[in-house]
Amino acid sequence: LAKENGKNTFQFYDEALHRQLAYKMEIENGLRKAFDNKEFSLVYQPKVELKSGEIIGMEALLRWQHPKLGFISPMEFIPVAEETGQIVNIGHWVLKEACRQNKLWQEQGLHNLSVSVNVSVRQFQDSSFLNKVSSILEETGLSPRCLELEITESIMQDITHSVDILTQIRSLGVKVSIDDFGTGYSSLNVLKDLPIDTLKIDKSFLENMSDSMNSTMIKSIIKLGLNLKLNVIAEGIETTEQMEKLIENQCNLGQGYLFSHPLPPEEFSMLLQKGSFSKKSLT
Ligand code: C2E
Ligand code: MG
Ligand code: MG
Ligand code: MG
Repeated sequence: LAKENGKNTFQFYDEALHRQLAYKMEIENGLRKAFDNKEFSLVYQPKVELKSGEIIGMEALLRWQHPKLGFISPMEFIPVAEETGQIVNIGHWVLKEACRQNKLWQEQGLHNLSVSVNVSVRQFQDSSFLNKVSSILEETGLSPRCLELEITESIMQDITHSVDILTQIRSLGVKVSIDDFGTGYSSLNVLKDLPIDTLKIDKSFLENMSDSMNSTMIKSIIKLGLNLKLNVIAEGIETTEQMEKLIENQCNLGQGYLFSHPLPPEEFSMLLQKGSFSKKSLT
């Protein structure tokens, strides 16, 4: 096709591809040095009980400050790290750091909250994953019930193996949730057999809740989750209208900018000291 359109088009593809590869290589090389240079950090976003405004936990999210390129979004570098396999070490660091920080908050008397950590499939399928989780819990002294792992629907591709790992994770006392639910390829038939605790409604369904299709989807996901005796949490709540509608449909857990952006630990500590959001502070 490029040839038919003439030389220029071909060159254009070539350059674009070249730029893309060069950028990927820069990310990959950057990631290799990121540990030594201490360029990674975690930020925390509260999970909230919608009716009471009470903080019931937090999600840890990875941040990378590149020395030259500045802040790079996880949406950009996580896929590269997954492809190269670097996600296994990075994910291990995230898990350990999140557990260490949560234990510290608990020692400071800031409630017994659970911390959620995103785990990519590649990490999840790593044969030593279970051992890693249990040694991190042991090392940090964090109670297993204060840890939740967020995985995506892509684990369903290898369902027999996944059920096996999930069962073992949960037998440690650690909780599991399905992140971005509704965007992947879960078969409902498989979902009922998955040993999990929580469904997390993807934020794309909240973006245009007045859209009747999205509204129908949210209602269906909430019903599905509740019927399967799972917790249901909504991500990406930005307005009080979205919050009210979720409560109306029996979804009483959520997170989003309405409550707080993800915050560095010092700022999150201050939020924890308050403990909850009042209706007034949100409007
Ligand atoms: P996710 O796990 O679904 O996380 C939710 C994302 O939505 C986060 O983006 C969060 O900052 C953002 N968010 C929170 N509230 C709102 C809201 O009200 N509106 C909107 N529009 N967005 C909101 P972030 O931090 O950029 O992370 C993006 C994705 O990168 C995550 O999606 C997760 O899939 C991945 N990720 C982040 N940290 C890690 C990690 O430590 N390990 C792995 N494997 N993946 C990670
Ligand atoms: Mg998540
Ligand atoms: Mg999500
Ligand atoms: Mg996501």
